Amino acid sequence: MDSIDFEQLQKRRKRIDSLVCPQCGEKTLKKIVYGMPDDNFNFQKNFVGGCIPSEEDIGCKNCEWVGFRANFERENF
Ligand SMILES: [Zn+2]
Repeated sequence: MDSIDFEQLQKRRKRIDSLVCPQCGEKTLKKIVYGMPDDNFNFQKNFVGGCIPSEEDIGCKNCEWVGFRANFERENF
């Protein structure tokens, strides 16, 4: 059985806080949450995606850019 370097795997997956928006260059990307936000919704930590869910899972609080987090895992912005 091959040993897996877990530390290496964790380093490769960037934290959402460290991702830079490809449109405005700010580190203001947040996870998109779809549906109506309730009283406990954390507007600081999440991006409101609206009532109709779509494919995008990451959004920018600064310029409202939306996209796919998976792209950040593959490419270096
Ligand atoms: Zn932005």
